Amino acid sequence: MATERVIGIDLGTTNSCVAIVEDGTPVVIPNRGGYKTTPSMVAIAENGKRLVGHIAKRQAITNAENTVHAAKRLIGRKWGSPAVKAAIETVPYRIVEGPHDDVRIMLRDQVFSIPEISAYILQEMKFIAEEYLGEEVVKSVVTVPAYFNDGQRQATKDAGRIAGLDVIRIINEPTAAALAYGFGRNIERKVAVYDLGGGTFDISVLEIGNGVFEVISTAGDTFLGGEDFDRRIIDWLVFGFHKEHKIDLRKDKMALQRLKDVAEKAKCELSSARETEINLPFIISTGKNEALHLQRTLTREKLEELTLDLVERTIQICKKTLEDADIDKKEIEDVILVGGMTRVPKVQEMCAEFFGMEPCKGVHPDEVVALGASIQGGALIDEQSDVLLLDVTPHSLGIMIVGGYFHKLIEQNTTVPTSKSHVFTTVKDNQTSVKILVLQGESERAEENELLGEFILTGLRRAPKGEVEVEVTFHISADGIVSVKAKDLETGLEQSITVTATSGLTEDEIRRMIDENKDYMMEVRSSQEFEKHRQAAEKILDEIEQLFPVVNEIISSSDFGRDAVKKARGVCERARSAIAAKDLAAVVDATEALTRTLNMFKGVVSKTRAG
Ligand code: AMP
Repeated sequence: MATERVIGIDLGTTNSCVAIVEDGTPVVIPNRGGYKTTPSMVAIAENGKRLVGHIAKRQAITNAENTVHAAKRLIGRKWGSPAVKAAIETVPYRIVEGPHDDVRIMLRDQVFSIPEISAYILQEMKFIAEEYLGEEVVKSVVTVPAYFNDGQRQATKDAGRIAGLDVIRIINEPTAAALAYGFGRNIERKVAVYDLGGGTFDISVLEIGNGVFEVISTAGDTFLGGEDFDRRIIDWLVFGFHKEHKIDLRKDKMALQRLKDVAEKAKCELSSARETEINLPFIISTGKNEALHLQRTLTREKLEELTLDLVERTIQICKKTLEDADIDKKEIEDVILVGGMTRVPKVQEMCAEFFGMEPCKGVHPDEVVALGASIQGGALIDEQSDVLLLDVTPHSLGIMIVGGYFHKLIEQNTTVPTSKSHVFTTVKDNQTSVKILVLQGESERAEENELLGEFILTGLRRAPKGEVEVEVTFHISADGIVSVKAKDLETGLEQSITVTATSGLTEDEIRRMIDENKDYMMEVRSSQEFEKHRQAAEKILDEIEQLFPVVNEIISSSDFGRDAVKKARGVCERARSAIAAKDLAAVVDATEALTRTLNMFKGVVSKTRAG
């Protein structure tokens, strides 16, 4: 039976983490290997098997084309967007166009949507929790970058469904971090959460007091993180190698994956060391079959020179969000650093300089988000909970009006959930439908904002223009997800709305993916079950084989004995055939017969010895 408890999942670009509240204390659940975080990597092996986490990471170099990392950078994105173009140029796996102007990934000969890839990671986190708790878990709170738009949030929720999870709430990563920071402490203060992870950057300012966590302002960049720092190191290595050997390493997928590996490792090492050796023997061979090696020294100063503008971009975003929310830096009483990238000394230094204080050292940058998600999960199912979370929408929501302008209906940094209504009238006689383009963003020009969907009001009453009035209500949920409802003001009847032009998955596709995932998991489970019984049968077969010569010698002198040995041979034959045919039921039956035979053999041997 599934537990009522709620797990908190930090679905990160690089690593993911799962936590749960136990006896009032949030704890991170380690995976089978004892690690508290699991790589957000998915691969398809040569035999078609799906690999997730550490096991996917371990084979990434030799199976680069079929190993996905950083899928979070693609979730909810449109095909032609700059982020997708950048990813196509830099990742070793194949990114292809999906049927709804969306992005898909081709691994071996299968095409996967991004929510499916994320679902496999979420499912792994679900398994980790289930193994720890010893029962099924369905309810979860999943975190997303605060700056994620509606499409990215929706796609993350879809991933949860495909994974068999009931995502009861999506919460923002910096908000989750603030929850973990302030949970159980009697504090009243304004804090800034600076969250630089593998793929995204967020800054949020919150007011904490009496168990209430209120976000005042948030901003970020969903395409700025550790991956970009790694990329700068890769570019530097590729450039240097090209200068020396006139060979472009990017063209070789295995070399590219090895470069990515060493670049990340070097970056991490430079958080504590002043310089590091980068060594890649046999990185590529020349046309003359001569192997070339790559060897360079990277200093912390060089890394800082290569990436300074990236850190500066995060500081500019911090500055802007404080200005937008009219907050004086002096009002901030604590700065919380979240995300693996905040271990980089230059990041810490520039943060301290900007906020005019040393950041708080009390939180674990890799675990705090999952811990916060589990606290929110606990609070959502506990009616007595005194934790209240008030988050905001990171983007303004509005519609396109005449002239291609953007008319804002809900301003950014408005507390969610929130609703706003707008009355639309017909502009032509006998007009029976109205098209509304719903967008998210801050630009005055509609086309520069993110199109969430085209909502078409249909079945309007035929009447002279301006007579039919339809009230459309735009709602942003606590998850930050947008929904639209319409009502005919004259009749009070709900109007139907058709949504088109979204890059999300359709309900039919999601259902198909849920079914396919279930089928796949059933297959995996039954093959694991077969493997368990096969091993047991093989073990008994071995023991019988070892006893055969002895038993043969003891009993084959009688007719009865010869018959018994012949029968035993038959039992072994049948077990081997069942194993070869991969027939689980037959292997289970054969194991029982094998056990009886083994016991009989053991009995014969021990009787002879006793005699
Ligand atoms: P997260 O998304 O929070 O898991 O952060 C992952 C990012 O942090 C990746 O880009 C990692 O390479 C980076 N990271 C982790 N540990 C360190 C470290 N010690 N120094 C520098 N970067 C790190």
